[in-house]
Amino acid sequence: MAILLCKFTDTENISSPPKSFFENLFVNRGTGGLNDYWSDSSQGNIDLNGSQVFDWKVSDQTLAEFLQDRPTRWDKIVTAISTFALDTSKYAGVVAIYNVNVKDGGNSGIGVLAGPVDWNVTFLGHETGHVFGLQHSFDQSTRLKETWSSPGEYYDMYDIMSAMNVYTGNHPQFGSYGPLLNAPNLERMSWLDPSRVWTQINPNNSSRTLDVVSLGHREIPGYQVIKIADLYIEFRTQDKWDIGINRPAILIHKMAGANSVIMASDKTYFINDWQPGQIYGPSDAEWMIHGGLRIYIDSFDLVNNKARISFSHRPDPVPPDGPNQPDWHIYERFLRDYTVVEREVSQLHKEIFNTTKEVFEARKELLQTRQELLTINTELSEIKGLVQKRK
Ligand SMILES: [Zn+2]
Repeated sequence: MAILLCKFTDTENISSPPKSFFENLFVNRGTGGLNDYWSDSSQGNIDLNGSQVFDWKVSDQTLAEFLQDRPTRWDKIVTAISTFALDTSKYAGVVAIYNVNVKDGGNSGIGVLAGPVDWNVTFLGHETGHVFGLQHSFDQSTRLKETWSSPGEYYDMYDIMSAMNVYTGNHPQFGSYGPLLNAPNLERMSWLDPSRVWTQINPNNSSRTLDVVSLGHREIPGYQVIKIADLYIEFRTQDKWDIGINRPAILIHKMAGANSVIMASDKTYFINDWQPGQIYGPSDAEWMIHGGLRIYIDSFDLVNNKARISFSHRPDPVPPDGPNQPDWHIYERFLRDYTVVEREVSQLHKEIFNTTKEVFEARKELLQTRQELLTINTELSEIKGLVQKRK
């Protein structure tokens, strides 16, 4: 990364931390800065080694001119890039540091804009996370953190990609830091060692007990993440980058597209961590009737930074399509009613047919009778003629 320290023509004399402060904040190891953070929270997959801090330089504008001419965040980052005539292709990202508040600190494209209030590992971890391609994390609630944010966005307080609403520690020079990056986000970045992940995508009719090592303690051998079906299970302990979390916790996440979603243990009170004795999954009754996956939080071993969980999958005792399914009864009743009506209609048809036949027969008889009457009438006329001749 290139870290560009910028002043304006009218803020040149405002006292600002020396270049060495930013080297400790961004580049040097063992300082509790951003390089340590990314090395640890990427599980050793990336670091900021090779990053360069470019010492304070004055741009050609006053602060007021800058704020007027540079409306977007990216515009503001570009000012720093052009002030240093930086070849950005040589860096994974650019952090534009201004020595006064330029508002709107945050990420845009490969850049991060940061004024004095933003010089902490939590904010910079989040924004550089965006530069690496990470997206915001969510919880299952419909709460809005900001008027412009989406329901649940920024409500995974255990994940750096919810920063603006996370548990943090406090560094004597750099201010707030942590928390770590959660398991699904690690996997999305390919920052999980597959040998440290226990996976069972299809837990059909199986059960098992497993230990999971604290995500912040990869020096301890064992599984760091347990993946069952679409769930990511991780253990977080109150130390190092996670010093600010309120208690040791099992976290359960799912991915929704590019965003992780933390599963609540109590949706009413927005509690998103899991403690020993709790069970994720269907209730006792639901589980007996429909089966499904249950995850039991068995115990925490805080001396060894491990947690024990179990899971049990019960297949749904009801076949997916069949006469025992609740909906089937509705269908079955409908089918029965339909059959009855159909039979009645058929009966009516037959009756109508028979009646028609009878009417037809009757008409035939009538015609015959008419013919006979006509014949009789003719005969009578003949007889009448004969009688008159005799007279
Ligand atoms: Zn963000």
